[in-house]
Amino acid sequence: MNDAIDLRRERMVQQDLAGRDITDPQVLRAFRTVARDAFVSADLAEFAYDDRPLPIGENQTISQPYVVALMVASLRLVGDERVLEIGTGSGYAAAILACIAKDVFSVERHAVLADQARARLATLGFTNIHVLHGDGTLGWPEHAPYDAISVTAAAPEIPAPLLAQLAAGGRLVIPVGPDVYAQELIRVTRVGPDDYRQESLGGVRFVPLIGDKGWPSEAATRRDLRRR
Ligand code: SAH
Repeated sequence: MNDAIDLRRERMVQQDLAGRDITDPQVLRAFRTVARDAFVSADLAEFAYDDRPLPIGENQTISQPYVVALMVASLRLVGDERVLEIGTGSGYAAAILACIAKDVFSVERHAVLADQARARLATLGFTNIHVLHGDGTLGWPEHAPYDAISVTAAAPEIPAPLLAQLAAGGRLVIPVGPDVYAQELIRVTRVGPDDYRQESLGGVRFVPLIGDKGWPSEAATRRDLRRR
Protein backbone atom coordinates (compact mmCIF):
# COMPACT_ATOMS: atom_id res chain seq x y z
CA MET A 1 0.00 0.00 0.00
CA ASN A 2 1.32 3.38 -0.98
CA ASP A 3 -0.43 6.15 0.97
CA ALA A 4 0.43 8.93 -1.50
CA ILE A 5 -1.07 6.94 -4.39
CA ASP A 6 -4.17 6.11 -2.34
CA LEU A 7 -4.65 9.80 -1.58
CA ARG A 8 -4.33 10.75 -5.23
CA ARG A 9 -6.83 8.09 -6.21
CA GLU A 10 -9.31 9.31 -3.59
CA ARG A 11 -8.86 12.90 -4.76
CA MET A 12 -9.50 11.83 -8.36
CA VAL A 13 -12.73 10.09 -7.30
CA GLN A 14 -13.94 13.07 -5.28
CA GLN A 15 -12.94 15.89 -7.65
CA ASP A 16 -13.12 14.46 -11.14
CA LEU A 17 -15.93 11.92 -10.75
CA ALA A 18 -18.19 12.64 -7.74
CA GLY A 19 -17.36 16.35 -8.12
CA ARG A 20 -18.88 16.27 -11.58
CA ASP A 21 -21.97 14.19 -12.30
CA ILE A 22 -20.93 10.63 -11.41
CA THR A 23 -23.19 9.58 -8.54
CA ASP A 24 -23.63 5.79 -8.84
CA PRO A 25 -22.06 4.43 -5.61
CA GLN A 26 -20.99 1.18 -7.32
CA VAL A 27 -19.13 3.12 -10.02
CA LEU A 28 -17.38 5.32 -7.43
CA ARG A 29 -16.46 2.22 -5.41
CA ALA A 30 -14.93 0.58 -8.50
CA PHE A 31 -12.74 3.64 -9.15
CA ARG A 32 -11.62 3.57 -5.50
CA THR A 33 -10.76 -0.13 -5.85
CA VAL A 34 -8.80 -0.28 -9.12
CA ALA A 35 -5.24 1.09 -9.12
CA ARG A 36 -4.97 3.01 -12.43
CA ASP A 37 -1.21 3.32 -11.91
CA ALA A 38 -0.95 -0.46 -12.49
CA PHE A 39 -2.30 0.02 -16.04
CA VAL A 40 0.32 2.46 -17.35
CA SER A 41 4.09 2.20 -17.74
CA ALA A 42 6.22 3.06 -14.69
CA ASP A 43 7.35 6.39 -16.16
CA LEU A 44 3.71 7.54 -16.45
CA ALA A 45 2.55 6.25 -13.05
CA GLU A 46 2.90 9.72 -11.50
CA PHE A 47 0.20 10.97 -13.92
CA ALA A 48 -2.12 7.99 -13.40
CA TYR A 49 -4.61 9.97 -11.27
CA ASP A 50 -4.76 13.02 -13.53
CA ASP A 51 -8.09 13.14 -15.35
CA ARG A 52 -6.64 12.59 -18.80
CA PRO A 53 -5.83 9.87 -21.30
CA LEU A 54 -2.26 8.48 -21.34
CA PRO A 55 -0.31 6.55 -24.00
CA ILE A 56 -0.22 2.74 -23.62
CA GLY A 57 1.80 1.82 -26.75
CA GLU A 58 0.73 0.80 -30.28
CA ASN A 59 -0.52 4.40 -30.78
CA GLN A 60 -3.36 3.77 -28.30
CA THR A 61 -4.41 5.40 -25.03
CA ILE A 62 -5.97 4.51 -21.69
CA SER A 63 -9.11 6.68 -21.58
CA GLN A 64 -9.64 9.65 -19.29
CA PRO A 65 -11.11 8.43 -15.94
CA TYR A 66 -14.16 10.71 -16.19
CA VAL A 67 -15.05 9.34 -19.62
CA VAL A 68 -14.65 5.74 -18.39
CA ALA A 69 -16.92 6.59 -15.44
CA LEU A 70 -19.49 8.27 -17.69
CA MET A 71 -19.62 5.22 -19.96
CA VAL A 72 -19.77 2.68 -17.14
CA ALA A 73 -22.44 4.68 -15.27
CA SER A 74 -24.51 4.96 -18.45
CA LEU A 75 -24.69 1.15 -18.64
CA ARG A 76 -26.67 1.12 -15.35
CA LEU A 77 -25.12 -2.10 -14.05
CA VAL A 78 -26.44 -3.71 -10.88
CA GLY A 79 -24.08 -6.67 -10.55
CA ASP A 80 -25.36 -9.77 -12.34
CA GLU A 81 -24.56 -8.71 -15.90
CA ARG A 82 -22.53 -10.24 -18.65
CA VAL A 83 -20.69 -7.32 -20.27
CA LEU A 84 -18.89 -7.08 -23.61
CA GLU A 85 -16.14 -4.49 -23.99
CA ILE A 86 -14.62 -3.65 -27.37
CA GLY A 87 -11.09 -2.19 -27.08
CA THR A 88 -9.36 -3.77 -24.08
CA GLY A 89 -6.34 -1.47 -24.41
CA SER A 90 -4.63 -1.43 -21.01
CA GLY A 91 -7.45 -3.42 -19.37
CA TYR A 92 -8.33 -0.59 -16.97
CA ALA A 93 -11.96 -0.10 -18.07
CA ALA A 94 -12.41 -3.89 -18.10
CA ALA A 95 -11.22 -3.96 -14.47
CA ILE A 96 -13.67 -1.19 -13.52
CA LEU A 97 -16.51 -3.08 -15.23
CA ALA A 98 -15.46 -6.34 -13.54
CA CYS A 99 -15.75 -4.75 -10.09
CA ILE A 100 -19.45 -4.20 -10.75
CA ALA A 101 -20.67 -6.81 -13.28
CA LYS A 102 -20.54 -10.61 -13.08
CA ASP A 103 -18.46 -11.32 -16.19
CA VAL A 104 -16.58 -9.13 -18.63
CA PHE A 105 -15.67 -10.27 -22.14
CA SER A 106 -13.21 -7.88 -23.75
CA VAL A 107 -11.92 -7.88 -27.34
CA GLU A 108 -8.70 -6.17 -28.48
CA ARG A 109 -7.37 -5.88 -32.02
CA HIS A 110 -3.68 -5.47 -31.11
CA ALA A 111 -2.20 -8.82 -30.00
CA VAL A 112 0.49 -7.12 -27.90
CA LEU A 113 -2.08 -5.11 -25.95
CA ALA A 114 -4.41 -8.10 -25.53
CA ASP A 115 -1.55 -10.23 -24.15
CA GLN A 116 -0.33 -7.49 -21.81
CA ALA A 117 -3.82 -6.76 -20.50
CA ARG A 118 -4.59 -10.46 -19.96
CA ALA A 119 -1.37 -10.93 -17.98
CA ARG A 120 -1.85 -7.73 -15.98
CA LEU A 121 -5.46 -8.54 -15.06
CA ALA A 122 -4.45 -12.05 -13.98
CA THR A 123 -1.65 -10.65 -11.80
CA LEU A 124 -4.12 -8.26 -10.19
CA GLY A 125 -6.40 -11.20 -9.39
CA PHE A 126 -9.32 -10.60 -11.77
CA THR A 127 -10.90 -13.96 -12.57
CA ASN A 128 -14.10 -12.68 -14.23
CA ILE A 129 -12.46 -10.93 -17.22
CA HIS A 130 -11.91 -12.80 -20.48
CA VAL A 131 -9.71 -11.17 -23.14
CA LEU A 132 -9.85 -12.11 -26.81
CA HIS A 133 -7.49 -10.96 -29.55
CA GLY A 134 -9.70 -10.19 -32.56
CA ASP A 135 -11.90 -7.76 -34.42
CA GLY A 136 -14.41 -6.42 -31.92
CA THR A 137 -16.58 -4.83 -34.60
CA LEU A 138 -17.91 -8.38 -35.01
CA GLY A 139 -18.54 -8.70 -31.28
CA TRP A 140 -17.87 -12.01 -29.52
CA PRO A 141 -20.81 -14.19 -30.64
CA GLU A 142 -19.95 -17.24 -28.49
CA HIS A 143 -20.93 -15.49 -25.26
CA ALA A 144 -23.84 -13.38 -26.57
CA PRO A 145 -26.31 -12.01 -25.65
CA TYR A 146 -24.80 -9.28 -23.48
CA ASP A 147 -26.69 -7.18 -20.93
CA ALA A 148 -24.30 -4.32 -21.61
CA ILE A 149 -21.74 -3.46 -24.31
CA SER A 150 -19.08 -0.75 -24.01
CA VAL A 151 -17.12 0.27 -27.10
CA THR A 152 -14.02 2.26 -26.21
CA ALA A 153 -12.93 3.21 -29.74
CA ALA A 154 -14.74 5.48 -32.19
CA ALA A 155 -16.83 4.03 -35.01
CA PRO A 156 -18.15 5.68 -38.19
CA GLU A 157 -21.48 4.01 -37.36
CA ILE A 158 -22.79 1.46 -34.87
CA PRO A 159 -21.59 -2.03 -35.93
CA ALA A 160 -24.67 -4.21 -36.65
CA PRO A 161 -23.21 -7.35 -34.96
CA LEU A 162 -23.04 -5.45 -31.66
CA LEU A 163 -26.72 -4.48 -31.89
CA ALA A 164 -27.55 -8.12 -32.66
CA GLN A 165 -25.57 -9.36 -29.64
CA LEU A 166 -27.36 -7.04 -27.19
CA ALA A 167 -29.86 -8.77 -24.87
CA ALA A 168 -33.45 -7.55 -24.60
CA GLY A 169 -33.33 -4.48 -22.36
CA GLY A 170 -29.54 -4.32 -22.80
CA ARG A 171 -27.54 -1.08 -23.11
CA LEU A 172 -24.74 -0.32 -25.58
CA VAL A 173 -22.52 2.74 -25.25
CA ILE A 174 -20.30 3.81 -28.16
CA PRO A 175 -18.59 6.92 -29.57
CA VAL A 176 -19.90 7.42 -33.12
CA GLY A 177 -19.38 9.89 -35.94
CA PRO A 178 -17.91 10.55 -39.36
CA ASP A 179 -15.07 12.62 -37.85
CA VAL A 180 -11.96 10.80 -36.61
CA TYR A 181 -11.20 13.78 -34.33
CA ALA A 182 -14.49 14.13 -32.45
CA GLN A 183 -17.53 11.96 -31.89
CA GLU A 184 -20.82 11.80 -30.06
CA LEU A 185 -21.16 9.30 -27.22
CA ILE A 186 -24.35 7.35 -27.91
CA ARG A 187 -26.31 5.05 -25.63
CA VAL A 188 -28.52 2.49 -27.36
CA THR A 189 -31.12 0.52 -25.40
CA ARG A 190 -32.65 -2.57 -26.96
CA VAL A 191 -36.29 -2.09 -26.09
CA GLY A 192 -37.63 -4.91 -28.30
CA PRO A 193 -36.39 -7.57 -30.73
CA ASP A 194 -36.16 -5.02 -33.55
CA ASP A 195 -36.54 -1.88 -31.52
CA TYR A 196 -33.58 0.21 -30.34
CA ARG A 197 -33.72 3.59 -28.57
CA GLN A 198 -30.80 6.04 -28.95
CA GLU A 199 -29.71 8.93 -26.75
CA SER A 200 -26.71 11.25 -26.96
CA LEU A 201 -24.49 11.57 -23.89
CA GLY A 202 -22.36 14.40 -25.29
CA GLY A 203 -19.18 15.03 -27.23
CA VAL A 204 -16.06 12.85 -26.83
CA ARG A 205 -12.82 12.04 -28.59
CA PHE A 206 -11.59 8.45 -28.98
CA VAL A 207 -9.03 6.57 -31.05
CA PRO A 208 -10.59 4.89 -34.12
CA LEU A 209 -12.35 1.51 -34.09
CA ILE A 210 -10.66 -0.35 -36.93
CA GLY A 211 -12.20 -3.46 -38.41
CA ASP A 212 -14.70 -5.08 -40.70
CA LYS A 213 -17.62 -2.96 -39.41
CA GLY A 214 -15.53 0.02 -38.30
CA TRP A 215 -12.92 2.20 -40.05
CA PRO A 216 -11.20 0.25 -42.82
CA SER A 217 -7.57 0.69 -41.70
CA GLU A 218 -5.22 2.85 -39.72
CA ALA A 219 -3.89 4.27 -42.99
CA ALA A 220 -7.40 5.25 -44.08
CA THR A 221 -8.02 7.18 -40.86
CA ARG A 222 -4.67 8.94 -41.31
CA ARG A 223 -5.65 9.93 -44.86
CA ASP A 224 -8.90 11.20 -43.45
CA LEU A 225 -6.99 13.24 -40.86
CA ARG A 226 -4.74 14.76 -43.53
CA ARG A 227 -7.71 15.88 -45.63
CA ARG A 228 -8.97 18.14 -42.84
N1 SAH B 1 -10.61 0.58 -22.65
C1 SAH B 1 -9.22 0.88 -22.83
C2 SAH B 1 -9.00 2.06 -23.76
C3 SAH B 1 -8.64 1.55 -25.06
S1 SAH B 1 -8.26 2.66 -26.38
C4 SAH B 1 -8.49 1.11 -21.52
O1 SAH B 1 -9.16 1.15 -20.48
O2 SAH B 1 -7.26 1.19 -21.52
C5 SAH B 1 -9.13 1.78 -27.66
C6 SAH B 1 -8.65 0.38 -27.95
O3 SAH B 1 -9.48 -0.15 -28.95
C7 SAH B 1 -7.22 0.30 -28.48
O4 SAH B 1 -6.47 -0.56 -27.68
C8 SAH B 1 -7.40 -0.26 -29.89
O5 SAH B 1 -6.36 -1.11 -30.31
C9 SAH B 1 -8.71 -1.01 -29.75
N2 SAH B 1 -9.42 -1.30 -30.99
C10 SAH B 1 -9.55 -0.52 -32.10
N3 SAH B 1 -10.29 -1.17 -33.02
C11 SAH B 1 -10.65 -2.36 -32.47
C12 SAH B 1 -11.43 -3.48 -32.92
N4 SAH B 1 -12.00 -3.53 -34.12
N5 SAH B 1 -11.57 -4.53 -32.09
C13 SAH B 1 -11.01 -4.53 -30.86
N6 SAH B 1 -10.27 -3.51 -30.38
C14 SAH B 1 -10.10 -2.44 -31.18
